[in-house]
Amino acid sequence: MWRCYGLTMAPDFQAALITGDIDAVRRCAKSDLHNHAMLGGARDFLAQRTGRNIAPLDRKLGSMAEMHAFVQGAVGELFQNREGRLLAFEATLVQARQDGVTRLEIGEDVWAITFYEGSAAELTRNLQQLHALAAPDIAWVPQLGLSRHCPLAAIERWLRPFLELGFYQTLDLSGDELAQPIEAFKPVFRRAKDAGLRVKAHVGEWGGAEDVWRAVEELALDEVQHGIAAAHSPAVMRFLADNHIRLNICPTSNVMLGRVANLATHPIRQLYDAGVPVTVNTDDVLVFGQGVSEEFLSLYDAGLFSAAELDDIRHTGLTDPYPPR
Ligand SMILES: [Zn+2]
Repeated sequence: MWRCYGLTMAPDFQAALITGDIDAVRRCAKSDLHNHAMLGGARDFLAQRTGRNIAPLDRKLGSMAEMHAFVQGAVGELFQNREGRLLAFEATLVQARQDGVTRLEIGEDVWAITFYEGSAAELTRNLQQLHALAAPDIAWVPQLGLSRHCPLAAIERWLRPFLELGFYQTLDLSGDELAQPIEAFKPVFRRAKDAGLRVKAHVGEWGGAEDVWRAVEELALDEVQHGIAAAHSPAVMRFLADNHIRLNICPTSNVMLGRVANLATHPIRQLYDAGVPVTVNTDDVLVFGQGVSEEFLSLYDAGLFSAAELDDIRHTGLTDPYPPR
């Protein structure tokens, strides 16, 4: 039986990959830095709490519209109110614990403040209580989410009270990459950076390499969620490598949404070879059916990386510059 305790037993992670021992991979410390907590929950936990079995995707999809339709059919209104969102958050902590995640970057969309009559403090207290209850051993990096389709004035109004708390450490912009020009979010991102947050955005999943470059420059991004289109441009990869911009990549999500043909040809390989810092993450475990442990093992089985290289990538995710809560 392989055992891993934090970073000191890294060779065991490699052995676990080589022997295909998923349980041993799960016992190794790892991070999940690209996880939408609303769809990141443990299937068995949710079944137990709701009586509902939410089956993962059984086919590849071709667009975000298809993804939304699938989620609507699978999850419906379950997470569409205050209690439902808290259940989803708790289920995500449970899933991460089962997966052996030791560093987890999740949070709430600032829009959810509308369920709390404008009280960011109350919303945050609820999340803190769930963390203490469900997964106190996981180093939680609290994240604020912004949806790209929301009106900017509303985003600014919702975000302000969260920033005033001084609790959150990262900001992530997600949703339809084509909904609003990235430049529109410049003032919001500047405010978040001034408040000391590391900032990220979803780009280069549906858009191109130039979109990744522009977003990093316009929003002064520290990290990019996905960003895989950067692999099409040596210049953009060099820019990301030179500026130490980390890409938090979700390989199975990219395959299931048709952004990449298969794991064996995933551009994470080219990005890694170009010196771009990369991490391996889940995106939406409930939809894609893979924890971080499975992601690592799948990449190894696909022949994309050696066990030592995957161990290197694992370390990248565990050595974030900010102290977790
Ligand atoms: Zn995502």
